[in-house]
Amino acid sequence: VRSLDRTRHLPILIMVDPGDEARLLRGLDMGVNDYLMRPVDRHELLARVRTQVRRKRFSDYLRNQIRESVEMSITDPLTGLHNRRYMERHLKTLIADAERTGRSLSVLIADIDHFKRVNDTYGHDVGDLVLKEFSDRFRRYTRGVDLACRLGGEEFLIIMPDTDKVLARQVGERVRECVAVHPFEIGSGEQTWVTASIGLATWEGEGDTSEALFKRADNALYAAKRQGRNQVVADAA
Ligand code: GH3
Ligand code: MG
Ligand code: MG
Repeated sequence: VRSLDRTRHLPILIMVDPGDEARLLRGLDMGVNDYLMRPVDRHELLARVRTQVRRKRFSDYLRNQIRESVEMSITDPLTGLHNRRYMERHLKTLIADAERTGRSLSVLIADIDHFKRVNDTYGHDVGDLVLKEFSDRFRRYTRGVDLACRLGGEEFLIIMPDTDKVLARQVGERVRECVAVHPFEIGSGEQTWVTASIGLATWEGEGDTSEALFKRADNALYAAKRQGRNQVVADAA
């Protein structure tokens, strides 16, 4: 019971005969929660069981609260993607991995073009719908090892392990296309068209930091915006 994950926190109550202290000690060592000496009083037994059940319920409640708040602290509630905080921690780890294994690593930043217009034309709720659909496509068009997150607003990022410049460019094009080519459903049978601009940067090896990598992708994104949007620009470095 104590070694299985599912039953690890189950309360255990043992009954012992007077004089059998050795067994009682073994029970306590094994993690029983309470004990009763024979002869057992009915009311005493009920009271002790109730106490254990109450404690168990309360600790389950606390554990769930902690689990939820941990999840909330790393997840974006609107899209279900990871949030910026999680990404920042994870990018450092993935760079360390790349350094150790000698493999490449690229990042992609995408920003929806003229998103303010979507909100202004259809309202904020439709804007939210578009963000959700955008995130779903993002998830669908990346591999399991890629880490997709919402940086905030209408900006998204994908960290791509084991991905060099050439492959990153292909992913960038695929993502750009999956946004631009299919219309977005915006409720009551209506559709709208959305495009995104994409900036890419590839890790340059030892000495290249997560901040520098991120900054280069961001600069590339701004170049894509300047050059007319709905396009992919890779960092020149
Ligand atoms: P650009 O092509 O230069 O990126 O133009 P843009 O309109 O996309 O960029 P801008 O930064 O001017 O506007 C971003 C808009 O995104 C403004 C803000 O109201 C909207 N926005 C940010 N977060 C949310 C959100 O969670 N839901 C909705 N509906 N809108 C959001
Ligand atoms: Mg935008
Ligand atoms: Mg933006």
